[in-house]
Amino acid sequence: MLRISKDYVVDILAKENKPAAFCKSGETVVFETRDCYDDSLTSEERPLGDGTRVYENPVTGPLYVEGANPGDILKAEILDIKLRSWGAMRTSPTGGEFKERFDKRIARIFPLEGDTIAYDDKLTLKLDPMIGVIGTAPEGEGVYTHTPGEHGGNMDCRKIVAGSVLYLPVEVPGALFALGDVHALMGDGEVLICGLETAAEVTVRFTVVKDTKLPTPFLSCRGRVMTIQSALTLDEAGHLAANKMYDFVKSVTGGDDVHTGMLMSLVSDMAVCQVVDPKRTVRVEIPEEVLAAYGYRLP
Ligand code: CA
Ligand code: CA
Repeated sequence: MLRISKDYVVDILAKENKPAAFCKSGETVVFETRDCYDDSLTSEERPLGDGTRVYENPVTGPLYVEGANPGDILKAEILDIKLRSWGAMRTSPTGGEFKERFDKRIARIFPLEGDTIAYDDKLTLKLDPMIGVIGTAPEGEGVYTHTPGEHGGNMDCRKIVAGSVLYLPVEVPGALFALGDVHALMGDGEVLICGLETAAEVTVRFTVVKDTKLPTPFLSCRGRVMTIQSALTLDEAGHLAANKMYDFVKSVTGGDDVHTGMLMSLVSDMAVCQVVDPKRTVRVEIPEEVLAAYGYRLP
């Protein structure tokens, strides 16, 4: 199986990036990822890291998918996420919902014990590994891996897990896909500023989907489908995510605006992915069985 080592990382998703590897549609690829601290935050005694950090929020890749051309959709099936044996977190005096409460950076290292961590001597938390940054290269200027957008990127959507299928736009030849910033666990919002940051091996199967319209980035996870949209404010991101799903539902059901609006209000859930990246990210979910009732199946 094709494998891209963590020697091949970038911190910008851009059409100028040289491919780290090439694959065909239908092929499965393993990505070895570094954590968001470029694997430099290794000790609680050194919350600023060990001095080896080169990349901000590195992603592994990019992968050139042969036959993927602008206008196509890249279907990325997340088959497996294998975590390193430990995760790291760090407080921030400059970002996140609690920045006023910290005057310096404080780090914690958590050993991962199977699929749990001991948060303290009372609380055990079950892990739910997810991918923070995952995307293709945008057609215009490159986007740093701090920022989410139409191309995917730093969406920090905790529904991007093993078993999920993510549909991304192809804007440049080969798509130039990359991923990284894996979290062993994160709540909606990522309110402190980080998840339980860790390195991982992520297995993904790629398919180029032609002549199909989907409101990308579009995700299928655990029986639900969702639009994921990012904007400078949560209000704007929520408006975008809801309306992208509205247009999609309307086209699937063939209903009018009244039918679509009422259905959306009955079955869609709006949730915050993250509030800490340069843009905020909101998703709007509906049960996949709503689409099935109208005979729709995802490509
Ligand atoms: Ca992130
Ligand atoms: Ca992160």
